[in-house]
Amino acid sequence: MTNNFFNLPKKSHALIVKQYPLSNFTLFLKQFMKSIVCLNHGCGNCPWCKKIEQDQYYDLIIFDAKIDLKKDNVIDMQNKFIKSGLEEKNIKFLVIKNIDFANKQVLNCLLKFIERQDPSVYIIFSTFNYVNILPTIKSRCATITITKNDDEINSFLNKIKLNEQEKNTIINCFNDFNDLKNMVSKFVEFNSLINEMLLKNNIVTFLKSLKIFKSLDYDEINLFLEIFKQKVNNEGKMKIVDYQEKLFLYPNKSLLFNNLIELIKK
Ligand SMILES: [Zn+2]
Repeated sequence: MTNNFFNLPKKSHALIVKQYPLSNFTLFLKQFMKSIVCLNHGCGNCPWCKKIEQDQYYDLIIFDAKIDLKKDNVIDMQNKFIKSGLEEKNIKFLVIKNIDFANKQVLNCLLKFIERQDPSVYIIFSTFNYVNILPTIKSRCATITITKNDDEINSFLNKIKLNEQEKNTIINCFNDFNDLKNMVSKFVEFNSLINEMLLKNNIVTFLKSLKIFKSLDYDEINLFLEIFKQKVNNEGKMKIVDYQEKLFLYPNKSLLFNNLIELIKK
């Protein structure tokens, strides 16, 4: 990870974070926020740094343009979020991940927002496709590059008991290391529940794993299916490919889960 962001001019109230694959945006964001909110430029020990570390700094709003960003959201941010700060510091952070996915309407709104140069607001964009960002946005933002940290990634992957194939499957599905970490934690929990259920065949573990399964979105389910393929015979693999193809049509997660369990039991 490039950590020279402490050298960013303090005036960078609009920032583009150029991400390389498997860089950790969440880690960067927390360090960046600490460097601004903390009186000691991010000491890590004061109440403000701790608040940020524990996800309890409330004047932070995060959107992912790939998933959920509409023009109305930006207008709402301008009208509500910016006017009604919750923290006594009166420093607000607006984060938009994958800014290259934002549509024209959203970008126009954001441009106006940046141009207002509200001194209490920091706007942070992230992207894996810097070339796709509009020049009008680029010219109004400072840019910083973050890269992956091999030590962090290896030490994490060594802690989890996955075989090489499973590790590669997971790595190839994620751009951001923090997303990968969250997903792997879910997977490890889910996987151990499934194994326990197959051993003991009891209803409590079944319901627990069903609950986790139902909380997954379709991209996540797709990844689980990819990994489950490695637990079943060839016939099962073909069925799973079939589920993956129909995944977006599959309205019933409980039914899908039941079908998967039947496959694994074979
Ligand atoms: Zn501090």
